[in-house]
Amino acid sequence: MRKKIIAGNWKMNMTPSEAKALAELLIPLVKGTKNEVVFCVPAIDVTTVVKAVKGTKIQVGGENIYFEDKGAYTGETSADMLLDAGAKYVILGHSERREYFKETDEDINKKVLKALEKGLTPILCCGESLTQREQGITIDWIRMQIKIALQGVTAEQAQKMVIAYEPIWAIGTGKTASTEQAEEVCRAIRVLIRELYGQKTANAIRIQYGGSVNAKNAAELFSQPDIDGGLVGGASLKADFGAVATA
Ligand code: PEP
Repeated sequence: MRKKIIAGNWKMNMTPSEAKALAELLIPLVKGTKNEVVFCVPAIDVTTVVKAVKGTKIQVGGENIYFEDKGAYTGETSADMLLDAGAKYVILGHSERREYFKETDEDINKKVLKALEKGLTPILCCGESLTQREQGITIDWIRMQIKIALQGVTAEQAQKMVIAYEPIWAIGTGKTASTEQAEEVCRAIRVLIRELYGQKTANAIRIQYGGSVNAKNAAELFSQPDIDGGLVGGASLKADFGAVATA
């Protein structure tokens, strides 16, 4: 039985002092949930949020890493830096990074390999644009993104990973995929994982839906057989996250 995982993606929001206040607001609201809860926060906030959640079951994640260990990569954050600050997860391949920072599937593959090598759990994002959905190539696109991102990843490593299906047209738009649309793609991802790694890995890997998840739609989305929780943007920055994380 897979444990559901609900991760907040704070994006480029919250100064360290605001992050502390938000963590303190959310901690009592997610207490008692059976789900695993993760706050994925800006790198500058990781230490503060790790300190704030100490003594709870909440985990902390970053929102990106670079694929090199260290060196002359001004402005980047390494896997070791996040780990040493207390993070356990890292979001990789978010559509905003693909779009604004021109991350390629090959870059994301290198980041996934680096995170796994170091012991950070990747939350690997994939998702189609509205045009791709209208062209009928959603599943082909997602399969390609995941196949490239997982090059060189072993079955044992894949079992620990999280994949977030996030249709780009649903992110931050208030337009959620229907439960059927979300389940269809999450199921297709599990089928792909079975093809690549076998049934054991397909049963173990957790697949989230992300895209305008809120307190009203979370329970129905997360009740689907292949949806093991959500990656949550806007609603993770307010008290609504309590209801989402406990759905
Ligand atoms: C996200 O950015 O990962 C996301 C799902 O955002 P939102 O919930 O705001 O659509």
